[in-house]
Amino acid sequence: MNNTEALRCLLCKKPKCALDGCPVHTPVPEAMLLYRQGKLEEAGELLFRNNPLSAVTSLVCDWKQFCYGHCVLNVKKVPVRWYEIEQEISGAYLFHHRLQRRSSELSGKRIALVGAGPVGLSAAVWLYEAGADVVLYDANPRMGGVLRYGIPAFRLDKKYCDAFEQMFQQAGIEFHGGIEVGKDITLASLSDTYDAVLLGAGAERPATLRIPGEERAVQALPFLKDPSAFALGRKVIVIGGGNVAMDACRTAIRQGAETWVYYRKTFENMPANPLEVEEAKADGVQFRVFQAPVEVREGGVVFRDCENVQPEDGGRVVTRIIDGTDHFVECDTLLTAISEKPDFGLFAGTPAVMNQWGWPEISEGQQVQGLSNVWVAGDFCLGPKTVVEAVASARIAVADILRIFGTC
Ligand SMILES: Cc1cc2nc3c(=O)[nH]c(=O)nc-3n(C[C@H](O)[C@H](O)[C@H](O)COP(=O)(O)OP(=O)(O)OC[C@H]3O[C@@H](n4cnc5c(N)ncnc54)[C@H](O)[C@@H]3O)c2cc1C
Repeated sequence: MNNTEALRCLLCKKPKCALDGCPVHTPVPEAMLLYRQGKLEEAGELLFRNNPLSAVTSLVCDWKQFCYGHCVLNVKKVPVRWYEIEQEISGAYLFHHRLQRRSSELSGKRIALVGAGPVGLSAAVWLYEAGADVVLYDANPRMGGVLRYGIPAFRLDKKYCDAFEQMFQQAGIEFHGGIEVGKDITLASLSDTYDAVLLGAGAERPATLRIPGEERAVQALPFLKDPSAFALGRKVIVIGGGNVAMDACRTAIRQGAETWVYYRKTFENMPANPLEVEEAKADGVQFRVFQAPVEVREGGVVFRDCENVQPEDGGRVVTRIIDGTDHFVECDTLLTAISEKPDFGLFAGTPAVMNQWGWPEISEGQQVQGLSNVWVAGDFCLGPKTVVEAVASARIAVADILRIFGTC
């Protein structure tokens, strides 16, 4: 118990950490009070019901952006490290929790969840508790999505994914691993078989550099899924500045490779959690900024220098590639982690309404327009975001399913 930290919390009536800082509005003051009173079980239940992935988000959230960054004590003192207390409560609670039917609102309804990542896991908990018969499908053999197949074990222990597998098995929630919807089974058949289908299929399609020789590069996501399947060689270059790039470089250096991250802008522009960048540096990863790749060749990459330019009209600083600065940098493996987007191929042959950018048109409750009983959530409709935002998005879709099918 860390009561010294807990007692620093002001138990705000309008807690900014929860209301403004947290996408799932974690009830921080209520849980903090229970913690102070030593009621850890009740605190765990409160947190789990609000966010079934509380034990995970307390570990992987960029808390400076969320709860910690919004604590009122930020102004003069040191903010409360709520995420540490949340991990203590939820990290223990998850491993002995048994799912229970809490209502019969969705009794008799069969609901298919496509994707067993944060969306599928959290939605399965809420829908099961509301009385539904829940069936999960995933292209991967086991549950967890990015939590199991993306975030490296040195950052997130796989025991958290295992805990959900056990919990679901005990509750009788069916899981069909190794089934790719759109290939092994159609969305139309799921939609016909189930009362509702929720697609939480993530964003796994890598964006491309669009430069010559790119086919020589290794994509970061397949590498992170099974690092041991890749012989990296002596020197690795990772291109990118987001969390995937940080996980890729930190994994490569653990494989014994001299590892460099090349990024076309500055450190301030990197979308990665700044803590992750610091951790990567501490691991020994080296960084080169203002470097844009222009060609991948046998044995290395041609980069061109970049610079920041302030437009004359005073607009936003832009990063410009400087012509005539090409230089070849040797490496044995090039890992690319530019960005990812969802794969909407599973909508092929369905009357789903897609917008001009090829994304599904959805309602406020995230129901897909043109399909009578299909919803979307998480990275699949937001693009690559965070675990806590995926859970928040799953909650919107589940609330809409309850609104339509619920009997209460
Ligand atoms: C390497 C990496 C590191 C990250 N680090 C962090 C972090 O530190 N903190 C943080 O908050 N967020 C992080 N994120 C982002 C976070 O993991 C995602 O935002 C979150 O996992 C999204 O959850 P999801 O359920 O929408 O999708 P996912 O976790 O991607 O799960 C989608 C699931 O759907 C399955 N699927 C896809 N298509 C099909 C199909 N056609 N049929 C059947 N199944 C299918 C996939 O196999 C997968 O299991 C990271 C992401 C990556 C890639």
